[in-house]
Amino acid sequence: EFGADEGDEDDLAFRPPIVTVMGHVDHGKTKLLDALRSANVVDKEAGGITQHIGAYQVATEVDGDERRITFIDTPGHEAFTAMRARGAQATDIAILVVAADDGVMPQTIEALNHAKAAGVPIVVAVNKIDKPEADPTKVRGQLTEYGLVPEEYGGDTMFVDVSAKSELNLDKLLEAVVLTADASLDLRANPDQDAQGLVIEAHLDRGRGPVATILVQRGTLRVGDSIVAGAGHGRVRAMLDEHGNNIEEADPGRPAMVLGLNAAPGAGQTFIVVDDDRMARQIAEKREARERAAMQAKRRVRRTLEDFMASMEKGETQELNLILKGDVSGSVEALEDSLAQIDVGEEVSLRVIDRGVGAITETNVDLAAASDAIIIGFNVRPQGKAGQMADKEGVEIRYYSVIYQAIEEIEAALKGMLKPEYEEAVLGKAEIREIFRSSKAGNIAGCMVIDGTVRRNAKARVLRDGNVVADNLDLASLKREKDDASEVREGFECGLVLKNFQDIKIGDVVESFEMREIPRG
Ligand code: GDP
Repeated sequence: EFGADEGDEDDLAFRPPIVTVMGHVDHGKTKLLDALRSANVVDKEAGGITQHIGAYQVATEVDGDERRITFIDTPGHEAFTAMRARGAQATDIAILVVAADDGVMPQTIEALNHAKAAGVPIVVAVNKIDKPEADPTKVRGQLTEYGLVPEEYGGDTMFVDVSAKSELNLDKLLEAVVLTADASLDLRANPDQDAQGLVIEAHLDRGRGPVATILVQRGTLRVGDSIVAGAGHGRVRAMLDEHGNNIEEADPGRPAMVLGLNAAPGAGQTFIVVDDDRMARQIAEKREARERAAMQAKRRVRRTLEDFMASMEKGETQELNLILKGDVSGSVEALEDSLAQIDVGEEVSLRVIDRGVGAITETNVDLAAASDAIIIGFNVRPQGKAGQMADKEGVEIRYYSVIYQAIEEIEAALKGMLKPEYEEAVLGKAEIREIFRSSKAGNIAGCMVIDGTVRRNAKARVLRDGNVVADNLDLASLKREKDDASEVREGFECGLVLKNFQDIKIGDVVESFEMREIPRG
């Protein structure tokens, strides 16, 4: 199956490093990727029509040897995290682009955290040094504060001053990538087995049918091979390189555009070569079923503090990853400082992989999903689709407004003594069809219970166009016709009054819910 090289040490050969370019918006990621591609003078075949196939390979000379490097041609860390979230590790090295006139910015730090969480070595490209206001020394100082210490300051991160615009020092940047790879990675693969690798991107082409850009990770892919890619399969009809040239084979580390699949696979999915078409079809069908099941399971799985404890007891986890978000920087710092003082013994480590001020964003959830982290929200809540996404990805967000409470719970979790957790159970929903104004009772909502049961003693929230406009309310009264009721079931009308919330509108939905203790163990 997918994943390991066949044979033994002797069968392995060096393969090029695979590089992703990350960094803050407008710092020059796209321009750098374009410049590196066109500065690829060693490649004699270049000169065709360059195609954006999602990845490309360049060659450079280091100490007299020709060395190849593969670039994933999608700037930004979204692609990087999306792949990791699928369990696909495509990237060996990250180039962190920082504009020398702008310095370190929020997305610089985000990118840095993503790469660190993935254990991917970083090479820093200090870009735009052609600009008069460029200050590469300042960038070095700023990144040192985040643990990326330049070699020239005694650290182990290579910084290269470049200009993507003037194509300055691009060879030095390529050299730094090669040297970093040599120093910290063992990049070898068996080129003589059936090919395996990743789908970088895929689309449906009008003339050519499904077209997938793949990256060979081991083995050699040849025209005529039967492959399964994601839930698609087929025989490789033709392969194109990034210059639009037809190629017959692709060895480890090489990207290629593959024609001949029956369906476009998703980015980050794997491909394998199999014996024949019939087998390819069978595997593709199985994969599709498995993927569907996994998607459903994933919705149910939650990585909670309890999961962490359970796997710690079984000896599986020794590391709790946290992402801290708070309303002001003071509270985030205080939280992090207090966390650092928790004595969890030698075996367990608590890692804060990202922190920041402001609402919990989709990027935070992305990083949490990719690194099995729990998000701590201190006086902040998810923004936009981040909450929905956390539910879908099974990322736990814990909210606190008191620091010692957060510390206590995390400490308790680490020591295996967490207090029972509560889970919200939605009991039912009622739609407001009429509003009666009563000087004594306030606004009475004339409702139809459209789902489940509405209960007098349960909590309630008001939804308007899918948004929560009031939460955690109590009912002042619940009536069926003229009588007080303890609950009203689906299909029946009722009248209810919300405590401390009068701003109801026709069409609002009142959701009745309660908090249930989740039994432990
Ligand atoms: P991205 O958002 O990180 O992909 O940034 P882009 O590659 O789109 O670049 C943002 C802007 O910076 C564009 O206007 C580029 O032309 C400009 N830019 C990129 N690299 C350089 C550089 O080395 N020097 C100068 N002066 N401008 C650059």
